[in-house]
Amino acid sequence: MVEQADRIKKLPPYLFARIEKKIAEKKKQGVDIISLGIGDPDKPTPQFIIDRLVKEAHVPENHRYPTSVGLLEYRKAVANYYKKRHEVNLNPEDEIVTLIGSKEGIGHISFCYVNPGDINLVPDPGYPVYGIGTILAGGEPYIMPLKEENDYLPDLDSIPADVADKAKLMFINYPNNPTGALATEEFFQKVVQFAKKHDIVVCHDAAYTEIAYDGVRPISFLEVEGAKEVGIEFNSLSKPFNMTGWRIGWAAGKPDVIEALGRIKSNLDSGAFQAIQYAAIEALNNPDESVEEMRKVYTERRDVVVEGLNKMGWNLEKPKGSFYIWAPVPKGYTSSEFAELVLEKAGVIITPGNGYGKYGEGYFRIALTVDKDRAQEALDRMQEAIGKVEF
Ligand SMILES: *Cc1c(COP(=O)(O)O)cnc(C)c1O
Repeated sequence: MVEQADRIKKLPPYLFARIEKKIAEKKKQGVDIISLGIGDPDKPTPQFIIDRLVKEAHVPENHRYPTSVGLLEYRKAVANYYKKRHEVNLNPEDEIVTLIGSKEGIGHISFCYVNPGDINLVPDPGYPVYGIGTILAGGEPYIMPLKEENDYLPDLDSIPADVADKAKLMFINYPNNPTGALATEEFFQKVVQFAKKHDIVVCHDAAYTEIAYDGVRPISFLEVEGAKEVGIEFNSLSKPFNMTGWRIGWAAGKPDVIEALGRIKSNLDSGAFQAIQYAAIEALNNPDESVEEMRKVYTERRDVVVEGLNKMGWNLEKPKGSFYIWAPVPKGYTSSEFAELVLEKAGVIITPGNGYGKYGEGYFRIALTVDKDRAQEALDRMQEAIGKVEF
């Protein structure tokens, strides 16, 4: 066997391997498993978006290589969407690049800025791609802990000045996966000041900006004054339009950063299928009805899960954004032990918090991606199997 590269060997071990083995065993035994594990919407893509895809799939021009930065028409739709939703002005010519899902851009941005030994500031717990992209580019993640007592916002003042000066990128993500936390405008302003002072490119992951409850409208990082001078925002149709399989998103903001990302991409991929870009235009032009319906569905599920857990002894507030419930594990268990217990005794899959970094230890995540009745059944089973919990 040919020896693999160091960058592959440096990738962290897959933490869910053990639990996946357990799931396979249970399924083989015929256990009816309810998965609250995966952050992948269960509902189909709205019909009007599918209709546009079908129409565009018949158009021969769409069968050819797209441009890697994406159709100007798509980038214009993104700009209009930002104007309408966030009162943010973006130039579709040089402030937006099309992505094959935002994960693709999040993974590639480190290749634009990180030399071997460079540092990126990475939240923990967090979406694993920030740190993994950093490692693949030869850099080192510097962990910014997200703590409950700080409302899951990183404490920028605790980052040593020499680390901050050396850092190239800062990744942040609000509404947050896995904690469900929202950013404040003050926090984003602080990030802009910090980035200016230490010359850092801010990469805000806005995948859940549309997923919010109780009338709350999460802000875009680009709404904050000076944001476009220090960074970019990654965004995606995956979560608001149930389009995770379609692989379509964008990055928007500081032109030289957008240019760099576009340049890397033009050397690696040839852009997103144009029929999908047209379908995405359709979605971005008509977001209101389907997204509002989706918020209603997640709100009901959120209430079932939070109220169910609180009946068992948790003391959780209902999150205002994302489709996750982030909760502490009861006394006497690690994250993995508790997840295994819940699977073993209740046939319910929850995600151990340490899968999102070491500061996720002591927590678990529930994704609201099963319907309300299934969520209720999962909570009933947990209550029956585990009963009252203590902390
Ligand atoms: C789901 C998710 C994304 C979206 O990924 P796509 O590649 O656009 O499907 C990005 N960031 C976070 C934190 C997510 O949970």
